[in-house]
Amino acid sequence: MFYHDTIAAIATSSKNGSISVIRVSGEESFSFVSKIFYNSNNENIDLNLCETHTVHYGYIKNAEGDLLDEVLVLLMKAPRSYTAEDTVEIQCHGGSFICRAILNLLIENGVRVAEPGEFTKRAFLHGRIDLSQAESVKDVIQSKSKIALENSLSQLRGNVKEKITELRDMILVDICTLEAALDDPEHLSLDGYSSMMSEHVDLLQKEVAHLLKNSENGRIIREGIKTVIIGKPNVGKSSFLNCILRENRAIVTDIPGTTRDTLEEELMIGDTLLQLIDTAGIHDTEDTIENIGIEKAKKSVKEADFVICILDSSDKLSEDDIFILKQAEHVPGVILLNKSDLDSVILPEQMKEYEEGNKKVMVFSAATGQGLTELEEYLNELFCQDEIDYEKDIYITNHRQKQALVDTAESLNQLREGIESGVPEDLYSIDLYNAYESLGKIIGKTVEDDIVDKIFKDFCMGK
Ligand code: GDP
Repeated sequence: MFYHDTIAAIATSSKNGSISVIRVSGEESFSFVSKIFYNSNNENIDLNLCETHTVHYGYIKNAEGDLLDEVLVLLMKAPRSYTAEDTVEIQCHGGSFICRAILNLLIENGVRVAEPGEFTKRAFLHGRIDLSQAESVKDVIQSKSKIALENSLSQLRGNVKEKITELRDMILVDICTLEAALDDPEHLSLDGYSSMMSEHVDLLQKEVAHLLKNSENGRIIREGIKTVIIGKPNVGKSSFLNCILRENRAIVTDIPGTTRDTLEEELMIGDTLLQLIDTAGIHDTEDTIENIGIEKAKKSVKEADFVICILDSSDKLSEDDIFILKQAEHVPGVILLNKSDLDSVILPEQMKEYEEGNKKVMVFSAATGQGLTELEEYLNELFCQDEIDYEKDIYITNHRQKQALVDTAESLNQLREGIESGVPEDLYSIDLYNAYESLGKIIGKTVEDDIVDKIFKDFCMGK
């Protein structure tokens, strides 16, 4: 597929930096930039005559000969460029005014402004990358932690594409065998094929189940570990959040119930991202607005990967405290005996039954910072994800891709049921074909144009 229009956009951040890059891509990109580019001897240069992958120093001037900027121009001829088209990157001085002036000059000369994600879309439509790689470009840019970045980069290098292609190829062999037998029943018999098919389905189901299981980790990699802070009002949840973030984000007051809604913050522990959610204090109340917050808190606990239960150790363990600990009993976490700087009424020994479960009990003081280092060390140890090997294993983090895996698993289940209930072999190909198509969606082999448009619209400008 070829695009005859040449597109351009500012590829760097809109904030002022020392340099900015304007990317121009398309059949006539060299010619368009040639119209405005002059070398150090003030000669207008035809960039079409220059070698590919070379850098040229010079000036950008408008039609009246006015100087706009001193620049470096990088030339990349198709297909060895990001978009797989002829591409020119103009490195100009940072500053949105200069960038826009150069971009406007290109537009006056006939270049069209690129839509968000259009450069990556062209790379995909030219077949330089598959859809999983294209989506990972956005993830690389939006990575919030080292592990998220490593995972997105490995997807960008094509590990998802390779795995999915391998699975599709396995399915294709079966589809072809079945089709061939249907076309030529005299020479090709499907007798006994069901047991072989059953083995293939076993293997495929295992592979897809493994990818789906890893995709749960994928969410954690992408969004961080959902860590919910719970406790009844006034135990020090907001103070704890401020203490661990070392800044005053949450409002701290001594009026119970001041954190009416949930508050979210992000925190790096080592290489791991924690998505910290401070909830409204859970307790029994008639206040309708407060109750909305409490219900939200309970919902957050249900969806949490980890909980930080806070108790006021200067006060005795109440019904509300026990109710809260019960709400969170299925989620691993820590119990912080906060306000340890005051006289302690709740002692760690009293919390033995929780310590034996999935919670670690720690003495803490949000006021003095006692216990903070131990807590951070514990979290680091717990969440240290060294065992994740992005080169060998695949962690799908993208919701669309995960849904395609769920659909694949569904088709394989139906196929398994069909085999077990003895449906004729020639009917296997329907489910096989569905599984093949669903997997194809991940790498963009079977997605409709409108979905492709939607995916690329979420990209930033210039990418
Ligand atoms: P929340 O309602 O659970 O968010 O509780 P806050 O963080 O708003 O704290 C309630 C009150 O307890 C405030 O007056 C805090 O200053 C106080 N507080 C919180 N943590 C500690 C602590 O470790 N020691 C002491 N002495 N007071 C604390």
